[in-house]
Amino acid sequence: MNFDKLEFGKYIADHMLLCDYANGEWQQPQIVPFANLSLSPSTLALHYGQTVFEGMKAFRMDDGCINVFRVDKHYERFARSLDRMCMAIPPKEIFTEGLFKLIETDKAWVPKQAGASLYIRPFIYASEAKFGVKVSEQYRFVIFTGPVPDLFASPIKVKVETDYIRAAKGGTGFAKCGGNYGGAFYPTQLAKQQGYDQVLWTTGQENPHIEESGMMNVMFVINDRLVTPPLSDSILDGVTRDSLLVLANDLGYSTEERPVSVAELEKAFRDKTITEAFGAGTAAVVAPIGTIHINNIDYHLPGYSHENLLNKMKLKLERIRTGRDNDVHGWNCITG
Ligand SMILES: *Cc1c(COP(=O)(O)O)cnc(C)c1O
Repeated sequence: MNFDKLEFGKYIADHMLLCDYANGEWQQPQIVPFANLSLSPSTLALHYGQTVFEGMKAFRMDDGCINVFRVDKHYERFARSLDRMCMAIPPKEIFTEGLFKLIETDKAWVPKQAGASLYIRPFIYASEAKFGVKVSEQYRFVIFTGPVPDLFASPIKVKVETDYIRAAKGGTGFAKCGGNYGGAFYPTQLAKQQGYDQVLWTTGQENPHIEESGMMNVMFVINDRLVTPPLSDSILDGVTRDSLLVLANDLGYSTEERPVSVAELEKAFRDKTITEAFGAGTAAVVAPIGTIHINNIDYHLPGYSHENLLNKMKLKLERIRTGRDNDVHGWNCITG
């Protein structure tokens, strides 16, 4: 395994955790060699979409220890997503102890290269084999991991989308469930055909407000303040979003969690008060946006350098995760 030539999502570590739920109880979790799952074609998850996942990372610290970032916050979100999808919630001990045991087993897979990490994918699916529409009574909880590189994304072009929406008020947008992704692909493909990399999701046609950028939260720097839409049932509560809001404050910037209308963005471009726009998520930490397409106009952000808040925050986060800076907020979960 060459950790200098990593590709996101390509390599998978040697083991996985399996834990089944049946007869109203979680069974004993097991760590087994990574292998295919065997499923009946009538498995409920394949038909009615009861699937929920998480995405988190483990980092190699400067002293060689392994640090899993904000396990509690990921577990809490996993539980909220599962609750929304009427799925069984594994106890916190099974989640965290299982996770740490799995990482201990495959610790040779945690890269030492700066910025690289071990991506952790916990997920649960409705495993009962029955084809009538119903809430499943059986679930399978799986965790697997894989080494991923630091993603240095060059600035992307995004298209403000008002014809399609990712998530509706009252819907499942705050839950990390598979269906949210399935429904987002079509408008994203259309945007790609038009020459854009991603869509900037909004609340829809009437008085649109910004929601998220692709499958990441979105943040802007307007008038030197970090601005991001407030959490709601149509926005996913990103761990990166939350961490960056805290770090921006630590770095002396004001932050605003408030609705951002598309009209406000257009005005901010005309007034040149907007200086940064980026996606925020576990995979890349920050994904800079270079161009935003609004109502047939391509608006361009100024270029990005290490002076920009997004890069300062990414660097700060990396320093905390590797143990170079103090973990004053208690985000690191360190194992041997
Ligand atoms: C996972 C996800 C995010 C980012 O969450 P992080 O915890 O920061 O990785 C943002 N939006 C959507 C829709 C997501 O699924």
